Formats: sequence, C-alpha cells, structure tokens
Amino acid sequence: MNRDDFPILNQQVYNRPLVYLDNAATTQKPLCVINALTEAYTTWNANIHRGVHHLSQVATARHEAARQRVADFIHAASSREIIFTKGTTDSINTLAFSFGEAFVHEGDEIIVSAVEHHSDIVPWQMLCQRKHATLRVIPLRPDLTLDLEAFPTLLSDRTRLVALAHVSNVLGTINPVRDIIRLAHERNIPVAIDGAQSVPHLIVDVQDLDCDFLSFSAHKIYGPTGLGVLYGKEHWLNLLPPAEGGGEMIEHVRWDNTTYNTLPYKFEAGTPDFIGSYALSRALDYIDETGRQAIVDYESELTRYLEEQLLTLAGIHVYAASLEKAGAVSFNAFRPDGELIHPFDVGTLLDRQGVAVRTGHHCAEPLIDHLGVPGTVRASLALYNTREDIDALLRALRTALAMLS
Ligand code: PLP
Repeated sequence: MNRDDFPILNQQVYNRPLVYLDNAATTQKPLCVINALTEAYTTWNANIHRGVHHLSQVATARHEAARQRVADFIHAASSREIIFTKGTTDSINTLAFSFGEAFVHEGDEIIVSAVEHHSDIVPWQMLCQRKHATLRVIPLRPDLTLDLEAFPTLLSDRTRLVALAHVSNVLGTINPVRDIIRLAHERNIPVAIDGAQSVPHLIVDVQDLDCDFLSFSAHKIYGPTGLGVLYGKEHWLNLLPPAEGGGEMIEHVRWDNTTYNTLPYKFEAGTPDFIGSYALSRALDYIDETGRQAIVDYESELTRYLEEQLLTLAGIHVYAASLEKAGAVSFNAFRPDGELIHPFDVGTLLDRQGVAVRTGHHCAEPLIDHLGVPGTVRASLALYNTREDIDALLRALRTALAMLS
C-alpha cells in the first residue's frame, strides 16, 4: 500500500503533516482514479448509448465495462443487477420509492435497525408516511449489538422489507446481516443492505450474503464523488417500477402509453455519470491490485491497534469497545470529574494539530440519542493509514486532553 499513490495526503495543515482519519465520510483518491478522470475528458468524452459515432461508442463501452466491473466486485449474478445512482442516499431513496409503489400499502410494516444512518431511516419514514405504513426498529442490547432475539418478534405478516446497515458508520461494528437475512427470508421478506461502510472494508459477496438489495457510494471506496450503486436481485428489479422518468429509461414513448426499458436502464433516467463509473472501475482495479484480503487483514489489524491505543488513555470512553469493527472507532473524552468534553472541542484541537477526525452525530441521531451524548469523535481508517497515523492521533489527543481537562 503506497501512500504516494494518494497525493493529497502529502501536505501540511497548520504546519503539521496531515493525518487523515475521516475516511468513513469520504476517502482520498489514488492517482489512477484522478488520471482516469483527466483521460476521459481529454480523450473520449461523449454522451453514451445514443450515439453512432466513435467517441460515443468508446464511452458506452467504458460505462458498460464499469458496470460489469462493479458486478464482479460484489459478485452479482449479472451486470443487469447493477444500477448506477448518485450515491448510497440516492440508491436507498430510489429503492424506497420504487419498492413502496409496488409493495407497500396501508398497515404494512418496514423494519430498520437502531444504528442506521439518516439515509437508511428518512426514505423509509417518508415511504411509511406516504403509504400509512409503520416503521419498526430492531433495538440494541446494552453492549450495542443488535438484539437478534427481538428481531424475529418484529416480523409479521405485514412486514414488507427489512433495511439495515452492514457496518455502523458510528460504531464501526459489523451487524449480523447473515442472521437477519436468513430469518427474514424464512418469511419471504426481502432485505436491503446499506453497504456504504462495508463494501470499502470487507469482501462483500451479494450472492453469498443472499441480500436482495445493496447500496454503496463510490466516493467512500477511493472512487469519484456523486456516484453510487444500487444492486438488486434481477427477480426483484423486474418487479419494481422505475422511480424516475426521462431519457434512456424508456422503450417507447407515446402520448397514450409509454413502455419502459429493460434492466438496468429502467432505473437510470437521464445521462448517467459515465465518466464517474469509469473512474470507479479504476478504483476497484486499484483495490484488486493491492489485494482485497490483504486490505481487509491490514485494516482490521489497524482498527484493533487504534482501539487498543485509545483505551490506554485515561478519560477516553470507546463505544462498543471489544466488538469486532470495520474501519471506524467512536469515542468521547471525559474530565476527571466525569464531565463529558464536547466532541467538537476535541475535534477542533485535533485539527489544529493536523489530525482530521469527524465529530457530531454522524447523521445517526437516533443512535447518538441512545448513547446519551451530544455526539462522538470518530476516527476512521483506509488502506493508506498507518500505525504512525494512530500514534499521531494519540499524541494530539493527549495534548487536547491536557488543555481541556
Ligand atoms: N449509509 C451509511 C452507513 C453511511 O455511512 C453514509 C455516509 O456516511 C451513507 C449511508 C450516505 O452516503 P452518501 O452521502 O454517499 O449518499
């Protein structure tokens, strides 16, 4: 893993070397991804699918090759199951609208978990409001794992879909998605996985997991911003209506009857981000060239080191300590008298020492309310982080604690 592949990391902020530990929010991009964007705009940019001319055909081939690349990366059965969206949020909104139109009626129920990002709560809440359905929540146990004994009691004849994150963006914990999928499937209920934080850190195989839908964002996996993926089993996608109308998603448009395109185009109204999809495919190449298992092993060792080091500091509380995590650790600092030091204050002092972390509710207010704090400090890792980065975080944290205590 070569840090020099990521030019942005080689800079100083406030006269200190940048230590970038905000990867759960967005990752930095390797040169091959940055160069892919320049290459596309300087050599083959042209709108796809509708052109007979050379550049359009090159662009179309690259976009469709990128779709196949994504399908291979998550082991989808077919590239028809890969829909390009604007990001995880857009993927979940698309699914919530489309699935809701087809399958959710008054009195039905949707289940989410207590650790969801707002992107996997609000679209389902909006659907429930629209359809007069009910949103139910898988609760947390005291150790902050999802309560798998409570989950089956939430399932009913009215449950239409279960939506949950594979990895919590706040706690970094890996949810028992396999068990949830198995229990839901025993009752023929589909499961939509929010993979925004798992696809970048774990080897996610949609056929092995047997999830019905999976969403993730390119920008969190070394790819460009503004692009995402909605995977859906072909069987389901065929049953769902398009969420948006426009060019490309149609077969024929007539005043009296418009018919829709085949998969996946039915869900891709308008000009897609064909340059972004190409750059994403280069990011996935970079990951595969680095070695997926090597990245998983390296990051999980680094995450353990991060947590161990944080736990050596008096006054630091790590949330869900000792649970297995993928890339992110949340903590708070407390004064000797037990008073919480506001996470913004900790984050600001870390920033002045060159260490970039995220503070606040991390777009998961229900979980933060459950923790009973105004927010947390979250350090999150990527393949280019090192033990030296974590040592720098610890040094900066010691200084911050000495100033704030
Ligand atoms: N879901 C999870 C678990 C996330 O961590 C995030 C982003 O932090 C999202 C959804 C939303 O992703 P995006 O803003 O790329 O749509």
